[in-house]
Amino acid sequence: MIIQQTSCKQCGICCTKGGPALHGADIDLLRQGSIPRKNLITIRKGEFAYNPVAEMVQATQSEIVKLKGSGGDWTCCYYDPESQGCSIYDNRPLACVILQCWNPDATLALVEKDLLSRLDIVSGDKFLVKLITEYELACPLPDCEKLSIDLQNNSESMIANLEDLVNRDLQFRNNVVAGSDTVLDEEMFLFGRPLFQIVQSFGLLVSQYENRLRLKMKKL
Ligand code: SF4
Ligand code: SF4
Repeated sequence: MIIQQTSCKQCGICCTKGGPALHGADIDLLRQGSIPRKNLITIRKGEFAYNPVAEMVQATQSEIVKLKGSGGDWTCCYYDPESQGCSIYDNRPLACVILQCWNPDATLALVEKDLLSRLDIVSGDKFLVKLITEYELACPLPDCEKLSIDLQNNSESMIANLEDLVNRDLQFRNNVVAGSDTVLDEEMFLFGRPLFQIVQSFGLLVSQYENRLRLKMKKL
């Protein structure tokens, strides 16, 4: 006999599949310091991510700020494997509060709705607003959908342009991180993943030669 699940078994499996995105209702958790910015990561608008509504990886339509994973893993940084529980249970984000793995309707209804952006979170902090704005101007995210198609043609000029952008992205980060411990702690929130990490998912190999990152297509 199949027993239908009707409540949370507190197995913690949902917490191992990635930290939740943050929504408008979560802003006080950030303002009160229950969730510090160093525990956040930004997925920039247009970056590839899994969309549970479409059930596929696709370019995001909006910027998504979410809780970081732990170490090199997707598991939410607030998941405690020993107790299989949430270490910020009373202050967990909305997406965790409404999650019912046996009935995903509420979760699916929240996908890409009322998302908090970096500028929502740092509003009032002129230095960080300026920093994020300058970063987006200096190091825009390339069109990931176009890139994934065009790179199949292995165009040398396209890879050279992308190499310039990857190096500019790294240089910008190094410059600002060197001048501020806060920026160092919050780099993944302020700027998202470095471009040299993102391009590797498009089949590009990254190597370093004389202080410059080099890109080339992986051989099939
Ligand atoms: S919502 Fe589901 S996956 Fe998450 S802890 Fe509860 S039973 Fe486990
Ligand atoms: S905040 Fe807590 S409930 Fe939400 S994914 Fe992380 S560990 Fe799980």
